[in-house]
Formats: sequence, structure tokens, C-alpha cells
Amino acid sequence: MIKIEKQLLTLNQDIAGQEIGIPVYRLSPETADAQRTVYIQSAVHAAEMQGSAVILKLIQKLQECHLNANFVLVPNCNPFGRTQRAGEYLQGRFDATNGNNWNRFYHYDEQQIEAFFSTLDLPKITEAFAQQGSKNAMEDDIVFKLRLFLKQQLENKLESQWGVNTAQYLNSTLQNMAIEADLVLDLHTGPSSTRHIYSPNFLAEQATQFQIETVISIPEKFAGALDEASFTPLVKLAELFAKQGLTFEYRVQAYTVELGSQENICLEQAKMDADGILNYLQTHQFIDGFKPLPAKDVTITDLSQYRTLFSKYAGMVEYLAKPGQIVQKGQVLARVLNSLEFDTQEAIKEIVSPVSGIVILHYPSAAVQIGTQLFKIAAQ
Ligand SMILES: [Zn+2]
Repeated sequence: MIKIEKQLLTLNQDIAGQEIGIPVYRLSPETADAQRTVYIQSAVHAAEMQGSAVILKLIQKLQECHLNANFVLVPNCNPFGRTQRAGEYLQGRFDATNGNNWNRFYHYDEQQIEAFFSTLDLPKITEAFAQQGSKNAMEDDIVFKLRLFLKQQLENKLESQWGVNTAQYLNSTLQNMAIEADLVLDLHTGPSSTRHIYSPNFLAEQATQFQIETVISIPEKFAGALDEASFTPLVKLAELFAKQGLTFEYRVQAYTVELGSQENICLEQAKMDADGILNYLQTHQFIDGFKPLPAKDVTITDLSQYRTLFSKYAGMVEYLAKPGQIVQKGQVLARVLNSLEFDTQEAIKEIVSPVSGIVILHYPSAAVQIGTQLFKIAAQ
């Protein structure tokens, strides 16, 4: 048996003062305190909803497992984006007021990690690191202190007299929960997309355990997203220890998982998506009692080989290559129609692939302009 607590965390209010919240589910083992925590959120890009269906399936399936960790599950975690519509669709990726990407304002400050490092008692740590038993306990203690420190930094940011922008407010509030976690999953989708996962380089091999066909391996750098904000402090801390000749091994495992296309829910597929996550959780002992899935072919693509094809033409587009499809260099991926040239040979322009690889996603609309991100391809 497991314990389930549900909270409505207020983040937003309408102009009449009505509070708008996000649901937070906390699952924990009925007996015995778990040492580790798993944090999973979905739909920070509000139109990317498949992850919320996956959280539903996880809540159901985790009840059949034995938990070795606490779980914090936050479906539909963006109460600003989920109320901003443009025509028939959610304007889910950007703040409709100012264009801010809802997934680029998490907090990381390298200098703050250096400041934290300077507070540590290095002679004592060096002594403890000399033996494996005391080393583990010392690492746990450092991680505990780092989390308190990072939470304080977030609080300071939110309490600044100057205030923060809406995306910073949302991201900081979510990050405050994610800081507790040893494993962080940020569930997204592409526009019109096949499943893929962003993994930091050092986790790329174990990211295959999610059984998602394509892993995009990214550098351990911060560019504003939650996965990066979760693993970069530990990577930076390890670098600082390495300069002192000390090996600090603890890392936060953090991934951005792209579960198909936006504005789409498929419960049947959500069951399989949840199974992939459970397979990872079982492999890393966050849970017991889930039967591991048979191995599956997964391609790991370095971020430098994950290429964007921009449209050179404006017009109406027919997508010929579908997400997940393997294409060859020179293959026609799409056709663009220009209605001013319908009586000439220029009526249709063909877009060909500059590389061989897997089409991961394409633009969702049939109306494109010059410079539109038409396709993203994992080159092979
Ligand atoms: Zn997204």
C-alpha cells in the first residue's frame, strides 16, 4: 500500500481575485521513510498534454508497485498558459503577453554554486572522502545543504523588491519542488512529433531505459530549462571538487521527455509511455515490483547532429515525411505551394532533406513563412 496526498497549490488568480491552482500529488511508501524523491511535471507548455495522461497512468500503476522513493507528480503545472487561447488552440508555449517561453526561466547561477562551495569544510570532507562508507554519508550531507541553499536562493529571487516576470515566478515555484528530487522528469511534446528524450551526455546510455526510440544527448550546460537547472548545480559542484583533487559522485538525474504531438491525448499510448518510465524507475531502484520490459532499439543522437531545417519559402505546405520516418539525403520532405505562381512552373517548391536521418518533428501548421522551423531531423 502507498500513501497519496493531494494538494491544490495556488499560483495564479484572475482579476476578480479568484485563485487558480495546480494539482500536486504526493505518493509515498505507507511504512518507512524513503530517502530519495522523484519529481515529475507535465504541460509547462500548456498545449503539450500527453504527459498529464501519463501522470494519471503513473498514479494508477505506482499503486501496484512497491515504492522506494517519494513521488511528487504535478500534471498541468502551468496555470497561466492553460488559460491563454488563440482561436481554437491553447497558446501554450509562450506567455501570450510578452512571448516568454514558459520553459526558459528556471534558476541557475554558477557564482552561487561557487559561493556555496566556499562555505564547505574541505579538510573535513577530504578526510571523509578517503573511505567509501563515510564518503557516501558526507556526499548526502553536502547534497542536503546544497538543496537548502538553492531553496534559499529561489526564495530571495521571489522576494526581491523588484519582483520577477510571470515565467520566472512559475518556474521558480515549480523548481522549489523539483530541488528535493534525485530524479526529475519534465514531460513535454513536440508540435507534430515522434517520441524523443533530451538527456545530458553523462546519462545518455541510461536514458535508453525509458524505451523511447531517440535520445538526444545534450551538453551539461544551462539554457533555462528545468532538466538543466536540476543537473547543472551538481555538475558544477563536482567540477569544483575535481579542482581540489576530490571526486564528488552524486548527480541529479534529469530529463525532458517529448511524448508525441501537442493538443493530443492518447490513453492507450499513455499506458506504454508510463511503462517506459516505470522501466527506468525499476532499473534504478526507485520502485520494485515492475516487470522490466524487453530491451528495445534506441538511437542516441548528439545535439550537434540534431538539425533544424528552416523553410526558404513562404506558402502552404504539404508534409510528406512523417515524424518517426527514416529519410535519405535528397529525399523530398515537403512541398510548398505559392498561389501567385499557380499558372507557372514555380507553383510548387520541393523541400529536400540535406541529410539522412530520422524525422523527429515538423511544424504543426500548413501555413509557413521564410525561416519557419519546418523539420527537425536526427542526422545519422
Ligand atoms: Zn515543450
